[in-house]
Amino acid sequence: MKAEEFIPEVEKVLEERGEPAYRLKQAYAALCNGLARDWEEATALPKALRAALKEEAPAAVLQLTRTSRATDGTRKYLFETHDGHLIETVMIPERDRRTVCISTQVGCPMACKFCATGLLGIKRNLKAREIAEQVFVAARDLASASERVTNVVVMGMGEPFLNYDETLLALKVLNDGDGYNLAARHIAVSTSGLVDRIRRFADEPEQFHLAISLHTPFQDEREQIMPIASRHSVPVLMNAARYYVEETRRKLFFEYTLLARVNDQPRHVRALAELLDHPLYHLNLLRFNWTDTGFTATPKPEAKEFLRYARELGLSATLRPSRGQDIDAACGQLAAKDLAARPPLAVSLRAKPTPAR
Ligand code: SAH
Ligand code: SF4
Repeated sequence: MKAEEFIPEVEKVLEERGEPAYRLKQAYAALCNGLARDWEEATALPKALRAALKEEAPAAVLQLTRTSRATDGTRKYLFETHDGHLIETVMIPERDRRTVCISTQVGCPMACKFCATGLLGIKRNLKAREIAEQVFVAARDLASASERVTNVVVMGMGEPFLNYDETLLALKVLNDGDGYNLAARHIAVSTSGLVDRIRRFADEPEQFHLAISLHTPFQDEREQIMPIASRHSVPVLMNAARYYVEETRRKLFFEYTLLARVNDQPRHVRALAELLDHPLYHLNLLRFNWTDTGFTATPKPEAKEFLRYARELGLSATLRPSRGQDIDAACGQLAAKDLAARPPLAVSLRAKPTPAR
């Protein structure tokens, strides 16, 4: 049980009141398993304690400000933190999966040139509880349809490895048998490539998955689109990648956003085939989702050709479909614009016919 670290405010109230130790476990279960957003729902706790907790350590730390629904069923949750920041979370339904994409920072300091979150800069790191609660809220939303969150991906706003400890604590709570009880292999983290943290992550006991945002095999080009490349070169990054697969024997995913005429040429495929030289490496292609950054998406036929060529050269690769674009919920589009400030028509939550793509 991770309760002491995860909900220290609650533990403090319990201690001050001289409550027995098992109350902490009950409170933790009410939040992480019962998905309580109000202590009144934690019926295992005595009434007076519920009232005291309500006063001193509220059950919900994030306020859900808005839920948007895309035509493809993707949902986006806009949250306000206790100190007035906005963050976003996305739930992506697939046939047999309900994946929740969570944020770890308010904004992001990494400034990747194609990413809407990167344009925001960084306001602050999220606490473990703010990170995990995004999943609890999505789970509560799904529970009304008797569905469950099956997968969590840390691919929302922020660079998770810049907020390593709080992110890991949140994931451990999600994985904890006394917490949300989600299998570690159903949880994945994506990083822009902080090499020392990749090594540290490889040494964690839980079998969480890892994705590295690569986006080009060439050092000079990577520097142009991802400032972190100037700090950690591609060969140094690949050393960390190799350490990860050799230590964990787990598959390692390389994220690759296809940007028209930037990183989508045959020479990129050939260099990738040289670079991704381990059987556990997998190339995850994704077409660029529109952000106001001057880039355009590789057209679908060319993206498919890129995939075909990659496979022909022996790479294990897939092309992921983009989800939730009509509500700005796709990868790289999260900017937590306060939708309430926009005219209602622009954020219509009603299903619209999707143009054939
Ligand atoms: N900060 C982490 C995780 C969040 S971003 C990281 O960068 O890995 C999740 C993924 O979306 C990353 O691979 C990121 O490069 C990619 N991405 C960012 N902007 C995008 C866009 N406009 N279109 C498609 N993918 C994008
Ligand atoms: Fe940050 Fe990831 Fe966006 Fe880069 S792609 S700015 S690391 S959120």
